[in-house]
Order: sequence, then structure tokens, then C-alpha cells
Amino acid sequence: MGALLKKLWNLQELRQKQAKLKERLQKNEKMENLKLVKRQKEYLEQSIKLIKEKCEKLRQRLRSRELDYSQKQGLIKDLSSKLYGGKVANPKELSSLERKLQRTRKEVEEIEEEIVNLTIEQEKLEETLVRENENLKVLKINYKNKLKEYDCWKVEIEKNIQRLAKEEQELIKEIEPEVYGEFEKLKSKFGNFIVAKLESGTCTGCNMFISTGLVGQAAGRDLVKCENCGRILYRNLAGPGED
Ligand SMILES: [Zn+2]
Repeated sequence: MGALLKKLWNLQELRQKQAKLKERLQKNEKMENLKLVKRQKEYLEQSIKLIKEKCEKLRQRLRSRELDYSQKQGLIKDLSSKLYGGKVANPKELSSLERKLQRTRKEVEEIEEEIVNLTIEQEKLEETLVRENENLKVLKINYKNKLKEYDCWKVEIEKNIQRLAKEEQELIKEIEPEVYGEFEKLKSKFGNFIVAKLESGTCTGCNMFISTGLVGQAAGRDLVKCENCGRILYRNLAGPGED
């Protein structure tokens, strides 16, 4: 009986180990880590996209202001030649030209200032873009590594589950079908804790004392169940290192 009970005990342990591994797969702590890096990567990609759009808008604005600048320069040239060319003699017309020339020069100054500011902004943005692209590169490598790590972890756990399941099947073959049937019937009630060790006269399943008579029987030939919870009692009479 001792050997049979040991087999039932081992079967239970194999199932508990598999359940624990399955739980780890389900909880998936590594997946959370992976998702976090993925979110960081997506966030950075979005941010880079926005910077690029801003760069493009700046470029367009700069191009348009440069065009304005050369047009205004042309205008200044025209106005100057009219004003100082000697062809216009009317004082009213001359002072109107003068005002127009001053206004245009002022506008040119403003455009020049804006072009300088836009250029500085553009340079800063391009520096940011280079930096963010570098960050993205690092993050992508990090993500790839994490993904690889996760895959390895998952495969390793699945392999362990398969190995334990195989051991379980081998062990079941060694147990009398009748006893196995009785063991299986208790599964719906106790899950993976069907066999309870008997320690110091106590059932470790429910922590209740077992009557002395039953303790004696637990070392005998038949399957003995706890009178309180109904689990199969396993009294390990073998000393440490023995079976
Ligand atoms: Zn019990």
C-alpha cells in the first residue's frame, strides 16, 4: 500500500507542478513587460511623426518667407530707382514713394528676423529628430530582445508542462485502474489536493486530528480517507532517503 500511496502522491505532485506552470503562463508576467516596451516604442514613433510634420510645415513657411523676401527686395529696387532716378518730379508722388520705400524696408527687416527665427527653430527640431530616432533605435533593439526572451521563456515552460504530462501518463499506467478511478472521482471535490499527508496524527488537508484507529489503518493495505474532509491519507513510514 505504501508504494501505491507514494505513486498517488507523486501523481498529485506532477499535477500540482503542471498547474503552477500553467498559472505562470496565464499570469504572463513577462508579457506585461513586453507590452510596456511596445507602448513606449509606439509613443516614440508617434512623437517622431509629429516632429516630422512640424519640420515640414516649418520648411514650407521658410520657403514662402524667402520668396516674400526676394519679392520685397525687388520692390525696394524698383522704388529706389523711381525715387532717385530723377524721372519723378512731383513732390507728392515722391513723398508717397518715400513712405512706400520705408514701409517695404521695415517689412523686409521683419521677414529677415522671422527667417532667422524659423531657421533656429528648424535646426533645433532637426536635432530633436536625430535624438529621438536614436532613442527609437535603442527601444526597437530592446523590444526585439524582450520578445526573444519572452518566446524562450514561454517555450521553456511549455516544454516543462509537456515533460510533466508525459511523466504523469507513465505513472498512471503503473496504478491499478480501480484505485486510479477512485482517485479521479475525488478530483472534482479536491482539485489537485486529493492525497493528504498524515503528520503527528493530523490530516494536512484539513488540519484535524485523526482517530488513532484510522491512523493505524493508514499504514495498512486499503486506501484510507480522512474522516473529516474525505481526502486519501498518506502516512509516509519510510525514513528520509528511503522509499
Ligand atoms: Zn482531512
